[in-house]
Amino acid sequence: MKLVFATNNINKLKEVQSMVPKNILLLGLKDIGCFEDVPETQETIEGNAIQKAKYIKEHYGYDCFADDTGLEVNALDGEPGVYSARYAGPQRDADDNMDKLLNDLSNHQNRKAQFKTVIALILNNELSTFSGICPGEITKEKHGTKGFGYDPIFKAEGHDRTFAEISLEEKNKVGHRGKAVRKLVAFLNSL
Ligand code: IMP
Repeated sequence: MKLVFATNNINKLKEVQSMVPKNILLLGLKDIGCFEDVPETQETIEGNAIQKAKYIKEHYGYDCFADDTGLEVNALDGEPGVYSARYAGPQRDADDNMDKLLNDLSNHQNRKAQFKTVIALILNNELSTFSGICPGEITKEKHGTKGFGYDPIFKAEGHDRTFAEISLEEKNKVGHRGKAVRKLVAFLNSL
């Protein structure tokens, strides 16, 4: 079975492909000839995931799923949240975003944060959503070179290394997207 994952992020495609059953081949947006920016203009993580999945179904006709993720920082009242990708500006640069977050948190003792992912699936014209949360904390400096986004400054609860210092398998075990994807996979297997 082929299923479209509405993303251009090669890291995410790899992460999720390694978790879905072998009989499911994931296609990214480029694989279906989608080279445009898929709109994500909603004010919630769930709203953006649903908007992206619906857009692909409506404009390209494929059953698909889309994810949206945000990093919610307690001391910043849940920011950057749904604005995580463009926290430091429209250039959507991971280093700029991390630098801004480290700076914004420099006077805060409370470094607690959580990653939240929502996956929206449209299959046979039915919409389903699956969420995953990973609690943890923001480090004081960047550590590690693996992963992407905010990985170098996020440590999952109970871990002494950042997401950028651990393997993909470890990240999938405890990470937000891993949790949401396992719910998606359980749903697909139950059909
Ligand atoms: P998106 O919703 O997946 O586009 O992600 C929103 C923002 O969160 C982007 O800046 C991503 O780089 C970041 N992000 C998403 N997932 C992860 C992750 O697993 N680790 C670190 N950063 C992430």
